[in-house]
Amino acid sequence: MGLLNRTMTTNKSIQTLIKPSDASAWIACHRRAWLDKHQPASYEPDAFNQLLSDLGLEHEAAVLAQLENQYPVSHATSFEHTQALIQQGIPIIYQGRLRDECQGLVGYPDFLIRHESGQYQPADAKLSLSENKKSIQIQLGIYRRLLNNGLPAMVFLGDGRVALLGDEVESLVDEFITGLRALLDLQHQPPVRYSHSKCRICPYEAHCRPEFEAREDISLLYGIHGKAADYLTEAGISTISQLATSTIEAVPDVPYLKGNKRKHRAILQAKSFLSGKIYPLNKAILPEGTWIHFDIEDNPLTPTRERHVYLWGFLLPAYARDDFDYVWTDDETRDYEGWLGFLQKIEVYRALYPSLVLAHYSNHEKATIRKYAERYAMENHATVAWLLGQDSPLFDIQNPILDCLVLPLQGYGLKDICKHPGLVNFQWENQGSGSQWSVVQFNHFRSETNLLEKQKLKTEILGYNRDDVIATRNLELWLRRLFC
Ligand code: SF4
Repeated sequence: MGLLNRTMTTNKSIQTLIKPSDASAWIACHRRAWLDKHQPASYEPDAFNQLLSDLGLEHEAAVLAQLENQYPVSHATSFEHTQALIQQGIPIIYQGRLRDECQGLVGYPDFLIRHESGQYQPADAKLSLSENKKSIQIQLGIYRRLLNNGLPAMVFLGDGRVALLGDEVESLVDEFITGLRALLDLQHQPPVRYSHSKCRICPYEAHCRPEFEAREDISLLYGIHGKAADYLTEAGISTISQLATSTIEAVPDVPYLKGNKRKHRAILQAKSFLSGKIYPLNKAILPEGTWIHFDIEDNPLTPTRERHVYLWGFLLPAYARDDFDYVWTDDETRDYEGWLGFLQKIEVYRALYPSLVLAHYSNHEKATIRKYAERYAMENHATVAWLLGQDSPLFDIQNPILDCLVLPLQGYGLKDICKHPGLVNFQWENQGSGSQWSVVQFNHFRSETNLLEKQKLKTEILGYNRDDVIATRNLELWLRRLFC
């Protein structure tokens, strides 16, 4: 579906039609949907999205192979060929192409499956485990419009389940088609607010960002939701400079920005954005004890979609590169072994360091331990109960950062803070690494058959995780030096 779609959208006459894959852009950002049609950017998917796309194609191929075992399948090569195959009553048409100029719709379902009535049902293979995603419902709903026979569409989901989508998705499809048409009729790109999570991974970032910066859009600030920026604009505060010079009393209570604490923070965030300065709010209080820095790497792309932690990494005293310790498992079939290995390490550290502090960045590590405890029904295991209980040694170092500091950043992730030259200024050995990079490398590791290459990939992933825990150690030292 993905590859075919990319190829087909280069055809100008088809580009003006609404296609199911437009739904993803429309859901993410209306401007992105408008730009996709009016000024499409050429871009290469990053390695993580490429991995998702490859896994999607693998899944589609597996569904195709399964269907081919049971029925005759014909591969459609054009719109006309699809119609001819439908006329012939071919049981399964692979990569059918459907177009309806009157409705202004075009679609390429992975499969058209002949129903006993002689009509066809559209079907797509999706890696997702749920048919309840908006983009899936719109896609399949559009195929149904193109076929116009009332039969439900089918989704071959990532866990092998086959879901049906019928009339219940109609209102969502109406909303999408009406909304997108109105959007595409606009002569100019629609006004939008900045969203750090969406814009930084969007192919139009270089197009949009200068405009946000030129007008000092308040939504550029960390913690300011686009809706809050709209309300503040209505109240006469429309630029970062205006917010930076405002008093708490002058900033109205608006949705997503209520209460003096939040407003004070927003004003300081505006000042910090303009000046590059750090604004301390309180002294940071860090727990006493022997610190061990802790970070996990997990793979969300397992067959069951249950995250497999392939690496539980630690930095022990005296915090040099050689003090890196870890538990590694090669794949999800060794998941339990890895979990027990982690618990054993904790028991050893606890015996060695009676006042142990297990420092990690963000809630992900603790949430993952909780999930593993549930997965293996080990909530009452003594070490697990200690890790998750009142006297837990786990300490989320992001908390004092968020509570005590306003930083000249748009995101407060570990890398945002550590890589910034004016803040912690710690640089990862592998500049291109990151958590998604690690997942991509691990999936390469899993499929690699050459043992030398496999070892190389593992060493790279270990090096990345080691740098993560060295980074949290550097962050701790930076906090102690300046803010405790
Ligand atoms: S950069 Fe942001 S605002 Fe611009 S199209 Fe992308 S998501 Fe939308």
